[in-house]
Parts: sequence; C-alpha cells; structure tokens
Amino acid sequence: MKSIAKNKYDLLLGNSCLDLFNYYDTSYIHGLKREDCECYNETSQDAYIAGMSNESPNILVSKNPYVFINLSRLQGSFKDVILVFHEFMHLSFRFHNWDVSKEEKIITWAEKESIKTIKQLNII
Ligand SMILES: [Zn+2]
Repeated sequence: MKSIAKNKYDLLLGNSCLDLFNYYDTSYIHGLKREDCECYNETSQDAYIAGMSNESPNILVSKNPYVFINLSRLQGSFKDVILVFHEFMHLSFRFHNWDVSKEEKIITWAEKESIKTIKQLNII
C-alpha cells in the first residue's frame, strides 16, 4: 500500500482491497468484511472494492479521511478516471458538509483532486 498524506486526507493506493484492511489493521471497514474480501477473485473488471472514500476506520493509523484506489482494478481507460472522480466526489461532499448549495465548488474540488491523482497515477 502506498499511503500519501495530503493536506486534509490520505490518498491510499493499493494492489488489492486487502491492502485497505491491512493498512488500517481491521477486519471491518464501514460495513465491509475482510473475510469477504479475502475470498473475492479480483480482476481489472471486478473487485470487492474498486475504490472507496470515507472516514478513517482506525484513528491510531490516521485521523484523516481517505480515498482508496485499488490499482488492480484499473483498466487503462476512461473508466479509471471516472472511478477516481467518483471517490473524490464522496470526499468533496464531506469537506463541504454535504451542502448542495455549494454544488459547483464540490464538483470543482473533486475535479482538481482527480486531475492531480490521475497525473500521479500516470493512468492515461
Ligand atoms: Zn461511491
């Protein structure tokens, strides 16, 4: 797992959804179980967790929310961009207190973070 501490969140880049459970040293993450992850046959088309954004499930590891991207799920196509943007939209809503009157700011923030992340991942 590659963990990159950003200003207000952690960007977590793993090779399997198991990396997420291992990183936070937990068997449960927001309703998802490690044991279900362990028996899941992940491919670039299908994974137990393709991406996820939420609060830290273990504040001993980090107090910041995270965006996790499962790198094994990436396909080298526009779908990767959509996945990254999807996860940053979750985080952006959180940072803007789910206030939809800030719709444009919410989307723009997610867009900017997605662009930075896509460049960093060198996906396309
Ligand atoms: Zn989602």
